[in-house]
Amino acid sequence: MEGLEGTLAGVRETFESGRTRSIAWRKSQLKAMIEFVQDNEEKIFKSLDQDLGKHPVEAYRDEIGVVAKSAKHALSCVQKWMTPKKGNLPLLFFPASAQVMPEPFGVVLIMGSWNFPISLTLDPLIGAISAGNAVILKPSELSPTCASFLAETIPKYLDPNAIKVIEGGIDVCHQLLQQKWDKIFFTGSQRVGRIVMTAAAQHLTPVTLELGGKCPAILDSISNPNNMKVIAKRIVGAKWGSCSGQACIAIDYVLVEEKFASCLIDSLRKTMKRFYGESPRESKSICKIGNETNFKRLLNLLKDPLVQASIVHGGSVDEETMFIEPTILLNPPLDSQIMTEEIFGPLLPIITLDNIQESIEFINSKPKPLAIYAFTKDETFKKQILSKTSSGSVTFNDTLVQFICDSLPFGGVGQSGFGRYHGKYSFDSFSHEKAILQRGFFPELEPRYPPWNNFKLQFIKLAYAFNYIGLILLLLGLKN
Ligand code: NAD
Repeated sequence: MEGLEGTLAGVRETFESGRTRSIAWRKSQLKAMIEFVQDNEEKIFKSLDQDLGKHPVEAYRDEIGVVAKSAKHALSCVQKWMTPKKGNLPLLFFPASAQVMPEPFGVVLIMGSWNFPISLTLDPLIGAISAGNAVILKPSELSPTCASFLAETIPKYLDPNAIKVIEGGIDVCHQLLQQKWDKIFFTGSQRVGRIVMTAAAQHLTPVTLELGGKCPAILDSISNPNNMKVIAKRIVGAKWGSCSGQACIAIDYVLVEEKFASCLIDSLRKTMKRFYGESPRESKSICKIGNETNFKRLLNLLKDPLVQASIVHGGSVDEETMFIEPTILLNPPLDSQIMTEEIFGPLLPIITLDNIQESIEFINSKPKPLAIYAFTKDETFKKQILSKTSSGSVTFNDTLVQFICDSLPFGGVGQSGFGRYHGKYSFDSFSHEKAILQRGFFPELEPRYPPWNNFKLQFIKLAYAFNYIGLILLLLGLKN
């Protein structure tokens, strides 16, 4: 592919010119990013509405606001982040100095996702720019209006020689993945994550994989009715209130003790009615299913008669408009696809347990999730969740909000991905930390050199164990 190789060569030339490393370039691009979202708010609203039926409030909360906040934060911190940090050295090395100097990887590939086509494409870009990289940005073809908007508008704001947007589908992804990159940042499914990692292995390219999985919510007990109202809002918000459940950190299923299940379902029903009215199909506050592939996949999850029988709320489908009603299922079979695959849509299974402590074993029987949510006031139970499970994040008594905390790393573990970003973690994700050690020519440690003898062995053992004694022995060693 002549065109792609030429584009890549041009971007690499820009990187090699050293321009993107300067603080001035980084700051100018971050400022331009802030201007980009401010100037284009209406166009972004329209594009997100077109692709996903995303309401402007949701669009601002989950996309525009996230990008503006990240860019502003990076702008205020980038100087500090890129300043080399002093490292501690053993006294044995005296006189010497150590530093850790972040350097950009080079030319990086960012592959965005369709469900949050603005924030999950531009948020990693902010990290890449802050770290001084040149970038090829590949928005998802499954949000075509947003992808075209980014391809058309980004070059008007950001340095077009260092940051290029390439549109295209799977064939273009394949061609991009055949190239040699200095870093690949991918957001998407585990299936494509494997393809990305296999391609990266050919060039030993480092990768960040922001994948998905089944994120559970644990509901410990329902004692206070006011708290239950808040919990219901937070569960509904995390299932239907952000891209209609098509979010990597959406609640996938809820675990609750059997005796609380009907109260939970009742509260969820009431909350959904408040949020989306009698007919959610007419609501402007709920996103549509993003594409036919996802719609068909979701229909397939509902096809199983035992799954159908477990529906306690919703369940209606309109194939023409690709609408799936917000749906609650009570105890669908644990070996059905809906409980073995990531749902990524507006279906919420509730699984009842005899004792909420069993939730830990339940979660551990599945691959490590990107997020665990737990509604509990029991400090001992919180500690058990933290120490006995593994996940990208744990959020107690709320949902989704961990995503917008710049001080927290965002990323998965195990099959939910690896690498992390947000705030300083984004900068780190796109930087190599170069170790720098400077020494003088005196004193010279003779025992580090042959010929070996027992004294030198003892010296080296002591030097590793106790630096001070090592230094004294060094002086003795100098005499030998
Ligand atoms: P996907 O992995 O199917 O597609 C992602 C992109 O990869 C596509 O836009 C396409 O351009 C490319 N692609 C698809 N098939 C390819 C192939 N065979 N070879 C090369 N490239 C290919 O994912 P999706 O359906 O767009 O997103 C759903 C998944 O993404 C879910 O699992 C979700 O949890 C995850 N996700 C994770 C995050 C996160 O931040 N961790 C965010 C959003 C989505």
